[in-house]
Amino acid sequence: MARDLSSALATIRSLLDPAGFVEAAEVEERYLADVRGFLAQAPLALVRPTGTEQVSKVLAACHEHDIPVAVQGGRTGLVQGQLPRTGELLLSLERMNRIECIDADGGLATVQCGVVLQTLQEQVEAAGLMFPLDLGARGSCTIGGNISTNAGGNRVIRYGMTRELVVGLEVVLADGTVLEGLTPYLKNNTGIDLKQLFIGSEGVLGVVTRAMLRLYPQPAERAVALCAADGFAQVQRVLALCRQHLAGALTSFEVMWQMYYRRAVALADTGEPLGTDHPFYVLVEASGSAGAGVHATLERTLQLALEEGALADVAIAQSHAQAEKLWKPREISVETGRTIRPTASFDISLPIARMDEFVYELQDALRALHADCHVLVFGHLGDGNLHLVAHVPEALGRGKEEVERTTYALLQRYRGSVSAEHGIGISKRDALPCSRTPAELATMRTLKRALDPRGILNPGRIVEVD
Ligand SMILES: Cc1cc2nc3c(=O)[nH]c(=O)nc-3n(C[C@H](O)[C@H](O)[C@H](O)COP(=O)(O)OP(=O)(O)OC[C@H]3O[C@@H](n4cnc5c(N)ncnc54)[C@H](O)[C@@H]3O)c2cc1C
Repeated sequence: MARDLSSALATIRSLLDPAGFVEAAEVEERYLADVRGFLAQAPLALVRPTGTEQVSKVLAACHEHDIPVAVQGGRTGLVQGQLPRTGELLLSLERMNRIECIDADGGLATVQCGVVLQTLQEQVEAAGLMFPLDLGARGSCTIGGNISTNAGGNRVIRYGMTRELVVGLEVVLADGTVLEGLTPYLKNNTGIDLKQLFIGSEGVLGVVTRAMLRLYPQPAERAVALCAADGFAQVQRVLALCRQHLAGALTSFEVMWQMYYRRAVALADTGEPLGTDHPFYVLVEASGSAGAGVHATLERTLQLALEEGALADVAIAQSHAQAEKLWKPREISVETGRTIRPTASFDISLPIARMDEFVYELQDALRALHADCHVLVFGHLGDGNLHLVAHVPEALGRGKEEVERTTYALLQRYRGSVSAEHGIGISKRDALPCSRTPAELATMRTLKRALDPRGILNPGRIVEVD
């Protein structure tokens, strides 16, 4: 290691407590791996600050010495943005895990960015409220990671994406400057709303250190149903009926295509409440306050759908445990995808009305590449978001690239988005021009240069900048 670099690292070490600095050779493998099995190179070192001041001092030193930094939360990201690349310092926010305040009357929580989502959900629930963001990675992902990826999840149809839940942010810029934006009110039109720049920008413009988040009343009633439909037009009709009759109580509308559902149900080992012969399985969740009659309304709505022939069969959960069982096949999507490895994975948005046609065309296009190439389809259909996991046969030479090229070319024709909620990171970067114009990409680079002139924060994620 060059003398300048080792003395810069010694300076950084001196800014932290002993547990806050880990030498390259000592970094545990868990910091280098993602859930899809990708394993990164060891970083220059691992730093684990406990507060904003330490983050600021570390970044100021990195800025001064031109040391690139990979920012990491709970490592559940699916596009490799959180994993260090050669020559990067790894900045983990895992020790910044304090819930500073739950203001039940004001409906606000103030947290450090390394708080695990499930921990916050549970503490807020104990205070009689709800933090509505929810996703399968809840036990590991952090609020900082959720904000930086503008995570979506299971309740977007009712509460919006993470952006809608952020009231204020504290952010440290690449040169160590701290932007203090923890203002405890919803409305604040004092010039450019700077926090929006950092929500969903995957750590390339700044490090989110603390957040003020919006809390909601805890719903007194939650109703969950699994439905079977025999055609896509029927799925659309059920969505229309749910929107009409459940209105604001509709919390989730998830759909699983048959091939995905069969594998997931076998893996979940929770039984087959509706058999596995239907082309589509729909999970509907509704929630509301006491006396709103959410359970009865959901039952009536689905009864109507059955009478109209939009649904072939329905199972309504009668307890919390049954609701969890119905959700399980949808929750274990990562594990289900692993059963057809090697794979290429996609997280796309497109108009709901064109989804069925898109999936048919994609299946044909992939089969034309190789007869064994098939795709599992599921997702947050009510939000216009599908997840696809395509099996890439070993026999297909440069298989993953071909499958990606084919899928994105088709998606571009449908004017879809190459990332609905997981972000771009490294692994989707080459696909970004399918969904963004050259002018938009140039504007992203302008923002990056303005806020991080030396390009040290998460370099190469989202866009390359000279
Ligand atoms: C089983 C499973 C289910 C999932 N389901 C969903 C889902 O339904 N909806 C959805 O949107 N996503 C989903 N995801 C992916 C999602 O992006 C993450 O789960 C989560 O939002 C990332 O949080 P994290 O703390 O793990 O971040 P990491 O993986 O550590 O990082 C993700 C990105 O954010 C950056 N980052 C992390 N913390 C900070 C910070 N404090 N400041 C600046 N940048 C930071 C990283 O550099 C990286 O670019 C799922 C993932 C898994 C494994």
